[in-house]
Parts: sequence; C-alpha cells; structure tokens
Amino acid sequence: MLFISHLGLVVSIILGMSFSRYHNEWNVKVENMAGLSASHLSSYATFLSVSVAGRNYANLLMRSTTDNLKAIPNLMFAEISGVSDYSSHNVQVRYLVDINKAWRLDVTSTDIEDLEKQLVVLEEKLSSTATSEKIRLKKLNYLVNKAKVELIGLRESLELQSLTIPERPPNIERDKYFLDEDNELLHILVDLRNKNKGGVWAVIDASQLTTIRNNLLFDVVKEAILALLISTMLIYIVTLWLVSPLKNLSVLMKEDVEKIDQSQISELRRQDEIGDLARSYSSLITRIKNQLRVLHNQTETDPLTGLGSRYKYQNQAALMMQSALQNGDFVYFVLCDIDNFKPFNDTYGHTVGDNALTAVANSMNDIILPHELGCRLGGEEFVFILSGDDETLLNKRVRDINQSVAVLNIPHINNPPYDIVTISIGAVPIVAMKDSISFEEVQRLLDTSFVKSDKQLYAAKDKGRNLVLFDEAIAINDEDLSLFHHKKAPSDMSQ
Ligand code: GH3
Ligand code: MG
Ligand code: MG
Repeated sequence: MLFISHLGLVVSIILGMSFSRYHNEWNVKVENMAGLSASHLSSYATFLSVSVAGRNYANLLMRSTTDNLKAIPNLMFAEISGVSDYSSHNVQVRYLVDINKAWRLDVTSTDIEDLEKQLVVLEEKLSSTATSEKIRLKKLNYLVNKAKVELIGLRESLELQSLTIPERPPNIERDKYFLDEDNELLHILVDLRNKNKGGVWAVIDASQLTTIRNNLLFDVVKEAILALLISTMLIYIVTLWLVSPLKNLSVLMKEDVEKIDQSQISELRRQDEIGDLARSYSSLITRIKNQLRVLHNQTETDPLTGLGSRYKYQNQAALMMQSALQNGDFVYFVLCDIDNFKPFNDTYGHTVGDNALTAVANSMNDIILPHELGCRLGGEEFVFILSGDDETLLNKRVRDINQSVAVLNIPHINNPPYDIVTISIGAVPIVAMKDSISFEEVQRLLDTSFVKSDKQLYAAKDKGRNLVLFDEAIAINDEDLSLFHHKKAPSDMSQ
C-alpha cells in the first residue's frame, strides 16, 4: 500500500513537472521564433511607416520593398496597413511570397476606368503635339508611360484582391503573435511608427516548430521515464527496508502472545526507529507473558487453601490421568468431604472454620506427590488424583489422606463419636494396560470416576463418616483386571 501510494505521488509529481517543463520550453521556443521574425520586420518599420504616412504606394510596391520582405526567413505573407498621416486615407498593401507579388487593396474598377480615360487623353495630346515641341513631347511621353505602368499595377491589384490569404487571428492586436498549430503558421504583428498608427501583419511558415516540438517532447518523455524508473527503484528499496519489517511485526502481533519466540524477531537488532518499535513490542510481550503467568497461577490456585483450584482440576485432570494411564500406572480418583462441617462453623465460628479448612487441606496435600493432582472443588470438598506403579501403596496413601486429617486433632464436639475434625472419602481405582488412550476416552473415564467415587462418599457419610470407601476398579482392558487387589467393591476402612 505504501509502495503504491508513494509511487502514485511520485508519478503525479514527475508528470506535473514534465508537463510544466514542456509547456515552458515550448512557449519559449515559439516566443523566440516570433521575436526573431518581429525583429526582422522592425528593421523595415521606419521605411514602411513613412510610406504609409505619405500614402506612398510606389514605395510600398517597389521591387526593393518586396525583396526585403522576401528576405525575411520563412515569411509567407505580409500585410502593411494603416492610415495616411496627411489625407486620412486608408493604406493597405499585401505581399504573397509564393507568387512574389505585392498589391493594393483600395483599388476599384472606377479607379482603373479613370486612369484609362486619363491615358486616352494623354495619348491624344501626345499625337496632336508637333514634333518640334520636344520638351512637351518628352513630358507627355513620360506621363503616358507612367500612366501605363500605373494602370498595369492597378489592374494587377484589382485582380489579386480576390486571392485567398491566411485568416487574421482575432487577438493578434493584443498578443502581437499567435501560433496556428493546425496549419503550422506563426502570425506576427509589428506596429508602425506613423502618427495615425498602422502595422505589419506577417505570416511565417512554422513547420520547423513541429520538429522542434517533437524533439522537445521526446527529450521530456525520455527524462520523465528515467526519473520514473529511478524513483520506482528507490521507493521499492525504501518500502522493502521500511514496510517489510513493519509487516513482520504486525504478523507477529496477531499471534498468540504466549507462543511468540522473541529471539526470532530479527528487527530487534536494528538501530533505527523500527528497531525501537520492535524492542518496545518485545518488552510488552515480556510483560504480558509475565502477567499471564501470574494470572494463570492465580486462577489455578485456590486462594484459601493453596491447593489447586476447580479451574485447575478442569484443565489438568484429564491430561494427568491420560499420561499416567498411558504410562501403564495405576490411578486412584479420590473425593473427600469434611464431616459435619456446617455444625463446626456453627459451633466455632466461620473464621475458625476457615483455619480448620486450610489445615485439613494442607495435611491432605502433604500426602500428594508432585506429579499428582489435588484440588478444592468448592466448599469443603476436595478431589485427588493419585498415580503410580505400586497399587498397594496407592491404596494405602488414600487411607493416609484420611489419617492425616485425624492426626491434626482439631476439636469438633459436634462430630460424634470422634469429637475431632474428620473427613470421609469415596475413591475409585483405575487401571489401563493400553498403549494409548484418547483424550475423549479419558474424559468419559473421569466423569464415570467422579460419579462412582461420589456414590462411595455418600455411602461413607451414611455409614457414620470418617470412612474410606472404594468402588469397584475400572479397567480399560478387562484382561488386566486381575492385577487389582480391590476389584471387589465396595470395600471400606473404618477408624
Ligand atoms: P456432611 O458430614 O454430611 O458433609 O455435613 P456437612 O455439614 O459438612 O455438610 P456439607 O458438606 O453439605 O456442608 C458444607 C458446609 O461447609 C457448609 C458451610 O458452612 C461449610 N463451608 C463451605 N465452604 C466453607 C468455607 O470456605 N469456609 C468455612 N468456614 N466453611 C465453609
Ligand atoms: Mg460438602
Ligand atoms: Mg461436609
């Protein structure tokens, strides 16, 4: 995501910069060409201004003028127009390079007819003049010739007026130049300096600008692609360097905290901000693990007696029984309940009751080995799961649990005939000679054991308390039942 967003940002920056560079350079190129052509035209501006001011068509149409215009590089067409400073007449001359001709625009057929008439008159005068009048003849000849030349010029102008010329851009007066990209024409307007104002509108062939533009476009695109490639590479490297470790950390954060192996967090060795983040995360994991351990211990321990809690029993009983049975060991499931404990509380008070409860729990727990389980199920009821390869010893240790309470000698006048605190026990022996036993089988076995030992516990209460009663042994594999001494149930043990 970071890679895509950064790439998007860089692409838009590069595209923006390339477009702006292309636009600026293109404008400069067009401006340069317009400026160059305008400076060429400006060098004739004084001559043309004077000619327009004096409405001097002879000057404007003479050969040297058209030659000068023709010399302007790439000029295709020019129009010189203005208002005479002395007669307020419009002056308008056009020049087309293709045909190398200049012509007036104000010529009408009437002008031509008038000049023709004048020529007729002059010719008549000439023919009627005596050959002796040499000066008059010379003058008339000159006028006739002049009129003839002028007549040719006027006729030509009238004829050329119908020529198609480029279209004048509407904003040329304001902008002074305009590039018609479709037709590859550059229009330029150079102001004249006569009093009544005027200008030279020139049309330049701008086809060479197309080549310049294509070259410019090629350069800009080439540089943009190069910049894009370098940027993509850099972004990729930065992303790899920055995003991958963050991704690793986020994957790690989704894992079960207790299963995280902190030594596998490679980002811990980094010296940058990601390293800081990884170290902070690692110390957070350590703290959470510690707190979970404390919580675990708290929930697995009964706060009053220090024995395992009912939660621990639910979590571990089946596992413990499974491992013992698979090991081929004998197991004893043992339920204990303090006798007449309600009257004890009523007689000695609840606090003394709590102390007695704790003492009873501790003395019973002393019988239990580290691999075995002892839990307070609630109230003054306890469960023990004993296991070992010596069945006789196990049986004895169940009875020892009962004895360990009696030897405490805690006075209890309302527990006749013993007058001390005693407990009753219901137990069931289990044996398995199977190689393996499924967890589900063990859980079913556990339920059965509970029901059977509870039945024996009630029987012990019925028979006068302070008794240990065993139910018939449960065998996972019937053939091996013979290994059990106590398969005939219930057997009891009174004090
Ligand atoms: P039984 O011999 O038939 O078991 O008689 P009992 O009076 O012991 O009967 P039961 O087991 O039903 O009585 C449980 C009593 O244990 C009730 C309550 O006064 C006492 N008890 C349960 N939990 C606690 C405890 O945490 N502290 C104290 N002081 N007494 C408790
Ligand atoms: Mg009870
Ligand atoms: Mg009881």
